[in-house]
Amino acid sequence: MFAIVVCPLAIGCSETDTPAAPDETISAPARPSGPRVTETWEAESYSTSGSSSNLGHAVEYQFDWGDGKLSVWGAPAREQTWNNAGIFRARARARCVQHPVSRSPWSAGELAVSVKLPPESISPPQQPQGLDHLQSGVFAVYTTSGAISNLGHGLEYRFDWGNGTTSPWRSTPAAVNAWAR
Ligand SMILES: [Zn+2]
Repeated sequence: MFAIVVCPLAIGCSETDTPAAPDETISAPARPSGPRVTETWEAESYSTSGSSSNLGHAVEYQFDWGDGKLSVWGAPAREQTWNNAGIFRARARARCVQHPVSRSPWSAGELAVSVKLPPESISPPQQPQGLDHLQSGVFAVYTTSGAISNLGHGLEYRFDWGNGTTSPWRSTPAAVNAWAR
């Protein structure tokens, strides 16, 4: 006696209850192609191709982005964004759309993508706040705020006192000054 498992298309079937097609093999796709150098948070396009089912069934693709994340199964061209700097090795594989348990090996090659931080830029701080009328020789505190590094780095501040002198660089956005007459 043989039990025949039928998976009606109208219901749709999960990967586990769809029987494998006997003797189906899926050939591995090509190594992904696309930019080898990019910056964090930049969306880039990558593609693969070349897989086929020996039974002539349609195939779909998955990418391993090399950062511990796998794409969903689908088209052979995708957008990808890495959020961290580093070198990531992308690869792809394919499966039968009709028989998802029939999968190819991973592509023989990997595409090494170098992801770099963008150049650092610092937004200017606010206009200094503090006394604008002051007797000569009297010290007063001046403050500023609002500067931001696009990379989220800590900042130091320095004040230009307008008379050819400056404060030292300090991690607090405040400094004390007195002007001689
Ligand atoms: Zn198939």
